[in-house]
Amino acid sequence: MADGWRKNLIDLEPYVPGEQRSVPGLVKLNTNENPYPPSPQVLYAVRNFDAASLRKYPNPTGEALRTAIGARYGVSPDCVFVGNGSDEVLAFAFRAVFNGSLPVLFPDITYSFYPVWCRFFGIPFETVPLDGDFRIAAYEYERPNGGIVLCNPNAPTGIGEGQEFVEYLLKTSPDSVVIVDEAYGDFGGWSAVGLTGTYENLLVCRTLSKSYSLAGLRVGYLVGSREAIAAVTAVKDCVNSYTMSNLAVEAAIVALKDEAYFQANLERVLRTRYQTMNRLRALGFTVLDSQANFIFVSHPDAPAQALYEYLGARNILVRWFAGPRVRDFLRISIGMDADMETLLAAIEAYLKEKTV
Ligand SMILES: *Cc1c(COP(=O)(O)O)cnc(C)c1O
Repeated sequence: MADGWRKNLIDLEPYVPGEQRSVPGLVKLNTNENPYPPSPQVLYAVRNFDAASLRKYPNPTGEALRTAIGARYGVSPDCVFVGNGSDEVLAFAFRAVFNGSLPVLFPDITYSFYPVWCRFFGIPFETVPLDGDFRIAAYEYERPNGGIVLCNPNAPTGIGEGQEFVEYLLKTSPDSVVIVDEAYGDFGGWSAVGLTGTYENLLVCRTLSKSYSLAGLRVGYLVGSREAIAAVTAVKDCVNSYTMSNLAVEAAIVALKDEAYFQANLERVLRTRYQTMNRLRALGFTVLDSQANFIFVSHPDAPAQALYEYLGARNILVRWFAGPRVRDFLRISIGMDADMETLLAAIEAYLKEKTV
């Protein structure tokens, strides 16, 4: 039997996204999707999309969307890169700007895709432990490095850092690129995009997946200096000339324009987050201060893995990570109020059953 071909297969440890189970009545609080639909104007634009135009290749750089994003932040479209979700954008960015011999630095507890990309691209990296309160210690990054990745607000903790913190990183590592992943930035209230005009070594990544309820459309973007954006574009052009469909570009432009819907959507999520945090604290949970659309919680009498399995058996999906320190916590996405009621009722039942 000829099976020598197997030795040529790649051996990888890929990122594992949250489960997508499909059963009726599922309460899905495990992948930080927005519980509300996208803007009605997006639904209208998709329904009225000129499908015959799909015959042609789209613009290779998503130019119309880059122009719209540039106008929103007052930067040139040449300072904007758009891609097929921010995961793809970040992967291209890692490949484009982390080419030194020194290690790239990011926290030990953060988005677990970062080490996957580093290993995939052969980028040396070192993780820096969060402090005892799950905060990022900025001074730990003040050392020779090949780049810094800051997820802000951080995942899975939900804790956000302010402008001074980001500027400290930029000033103390002027010879490396600092990538700020703002996947949850809209829920935290500020963006480092405004700093890209001042710091050429800053790249800010954002997505329409969470705050714009468009995880399925796959739209993410990067704002930074012309030179850094050109490098990321060159990487994209070594993989795929056309990452953005016309449909994604059109729908994204419409979504970004409907500011009123966006704000109302955001406020609903923030209100539910506030209420859920209070209710969980009243039940004895430790709830880290969240500036995201999820919360990170632990309970002294409820082992996180056991509670995770108990909820999963009742079709309530939350996220549990097996790593040191985080294994005591559950990450819970903010859903609609009714989802959170179902969750809280199940948690109360668990605490009654399993604790004395
Ligand atoms: C969700 C998420 C992303 C990726 O989002 P896309 O859907 O690929 O745009 C990137 N970074 C973090 C921290 C995330 O949570």
